[in-house]
Formats: sequence, C-alpha cells, structure tokens
Amino acid sequence: MKPTNPVFTGIDTTVFETMSRLAMAHGAVNLGQGFPDVDGPEDIRRVAAEALVEGPNQYPPMLGLPALRQAVADANKRFYGLNVDPQSEVMVTSGATEALADCLIALVSPGDEVVLIEPLYDCYLPIVKQAGGIPVRVRVTPPDWSMNEDALRAAFSERTKAILINNPMNPTAKVFSERELQLIADLCIEHDVYAICDEVYEHLVFDGAQHRPLMTFDGMRERAVRIGSAGKTFSLTGWKVGYVTGPAGLMDPISKAHQWLTFTTPPNLQKAVAYGLGRDDSYFAGLTQDLMSKRDRMAAGLAGLGFSVLPCAATYFLTCDIGGLGLGRTDVEACETLVTQAGVAAVPVSAFYGSDAPTDYIRFCFCKQDTVIDEALTRLAAFLTAARAESA
Ligand code: PMP
Ligand code: GLN
Repeated sequence: MKPTNPVFTGIDTTVFETMSRLAMAHGAVNLGQGFPDVDGPEDIRRVAAEALVEGPNQYPPMLGLPALRQAVADANKRFYGLNVDPQSEVMVTSGATEALADCLIALVSPGDEVVLIEPLYDCYLPIVKQAGGIPVRVRVTPPDWSMNEDALRAAFSERTKAILINNPMNPTAKVFSERELQLIADLCIEHDVYAICDEVYEHLVFDGAQHRPLMTFDGMRERAVRIGSAGKTFSLTGWKVGYVTGPAGLMDPISKAHQWLTFTTPPNLQKAVAYGLGRDDSYFAGLTQDLMSKRDRMAAGLAGLGFSVLPCAATYFLTCDIGGLGLGRTDVEACETLVTQAGVAAVPVSAFYGSDAPTDYIRFCFCKQDTVIDEALTRLAAFLTAARAESA
C-alpha cells in the first residue's frame, strides 16, 4: 500500500495525552497536561446549559455568533485599547488549535519559511510542515529564557513569511519583554513578515504585569493576527472555543481555511463565552490571584524538596531543573520515574523541541486544588526521602 502522510505517520502521540494516560494507569496525581481540576464559573456554564436546552442548536454563522464576535472586539478594546471591527476582523474557532491551523495554512505557502521560538507548543511543527512551510527555529534559553537578538535577527530573511510567537509562553512561563517584542515587530516590518500570535494565556499573567499583544506595536496592526482561548480564560479547556483577531485582509483567507476545517463551533458554548468575556474586572483579577497563590504554593513546595524551580511570570506551568536529583538520565526518564514510582505526573520539556532538546527540565502544572498540590508534594517528598535513604 502507498505510504500515508509522513507528517502524521509514525510520530509520537502528544505528550499531554501520553502523560494523562500514564497518570490514570498509575493512579498518579496529574500535574502533566495543562487543565484546571475545577471547572470554570458556574454562571457561564449555566448560560451554555440553558442555550443548549432552549436552542437553536443548528449551524451558527461561519465566522461565529455575532454576540461572541462583538464580545471579542469589546475585549480587545477593554484590555488592550485595540479598535476591532467585529464583522470583518474577528472569527470564532473550535479552540486555539484550530485557529493556529487556520492561520498557518492560510498565510503560509509551500516553501515559505516560518520562524518558531523554541521551546514550542507541540502542534506548531506538524502544522507548519503540513502547510508546506519550512520551520526556522530560534531558542530562548534557561534559566531566564531570554532571547538572543542576533539569533533572532539571523532567522529572518526574504524567504520568511511568518513568525509564530507564543506569549505568554508555554512551557517556559515567560512573558516577552517590551524590548523583545519591539525587536520582533521591527524584524517583521523590515522583512515584510506576518506575526501569528498565540496569546491563549493572555489573562494568566502574574505579579501585577499586564499582557501586551504584539499587535499593539506600531506597524503591527496590519500584519499580526492574535489567537485567544476561552478554555484558558474561563478554565473550561474541554469546550475548545477559540478566537482570532486580525486585519480584514488576513481574516479573509483565514476564514476560508476555517470553512473547510470545522466551519463552526457549538452555538451554546459561543453564547456562554460571549457572556463570560463581559464579566467584570473582578473575575479576571480573581483568576490571576488564585493562580498566583497556587504557583507560589507549588513553587515553595518543590524548592523545599530540592527542585530548582525556574521563574514563572504567567501561564499554568512551573518548570524545574532536575539536574542532581537522581531521577533519571533524561527528563523523559525522570517523568517516567515520577509517574510510576512517586505517583505524580509531570511533562518532559524536551517534548517542546524539534530536535537537540535539553534534557534537564520538567514541567509541573499548578492549576489544581490546594489539596491536590499538597498531595503531590507529599508523594514527591515520600519518594525522594526513600530514594535518598536507599542511595545513602
Ligand atoms: N497554544 C498553547 C500555547 C497552548 O498551551 C494550548 C493548550 N491548550 C493551545 C494553544 C490550544 O488551546 P485550545 O485548547 O483552545 O485549542
Ligand atoms: N496546552 C495544554 C498543555 O500544555 C495541553 C492541551 C492538550 O492536551 N492538547 O498542557
């Protein structure tokens, strides 16, 4: 038989699914895949439930319910001062993942180079490749995950069609500095490059910092598209409701990609997300406050156990350097050890690299109930104490 598409044939299952399966098989506390263990606000879920019962439950408009497109445009104004036309500059998708695919296949032609910043979210490489794009990877490096200006500059050329940037960034929990964003904007303008901005963690930014979309930089409004996710903003990851904001000229081909991929997203969920985006500031402040205290709880606990915890400015994730802990030769081995022997699932950070990954880092997800965080820390403590006693 003829070979199937090599982009999808014989490749690994996504690390998030793999670790969640292992966590279940071993009865482990799942700090691997990034999802909150308490569902988002009840009032938002009730709007969805009522809309499901009352209907209509037929195809909503292809670009999304007008109420949600208006809510996304309003949120762009409210949080970032962006003036956005809900008719021509907003599109609703089935999660940020679909939005990423729509943007990449609509903007990238075969042979175009796409700059990616590594570590990268794991769907980026396969989608770029499926679009026929040529990935050009640039690294940010631990412990502060700073960007090397010369390396970024060297990645851009007349062959570059787009840069895909994830800010705030998974798994590093980095928020790009104004300087770094300005550099990216300058390079995009200099080389006539589109920016696809994965900003799903826009509302999970800590310590009083504010997210700043790349789209708000001078000259970027017409060449940037930004992607949000209700899953992250409302702790409802299973809903898979995303949204893209961009200039009408780019939204046109992006919407044509969407029309052949999913066409629409469940109407009741769209109605509820529209309602959610209108919630007052206390909701958004409460979300970050709550996550910050979980971050601090887990970071203190892990540091107390000897993990070297890297700074975390945003997202759901804490990355640790596991060198010297004796958990295994690599991050993958360490995660296997932890899930099978300690009863705690984490994610190896090497999964976020195309090749030549560092192997000293693992990622813990902290959007969990305090009791769950404490249980994970207790299990890790017991495991490490026993392991140290054995090797003494
Ligand atoms: N981008 C990043 C950086 C993510 O971490 C995730 C994980 N949810 C997504 C995109 C996908 O979001 P969604 O679930 O809305 O498809
Ligand atoms: N974004 C989530 C993470 O980084 C996973 C989403 C998924 O499993 N597709 O953990």
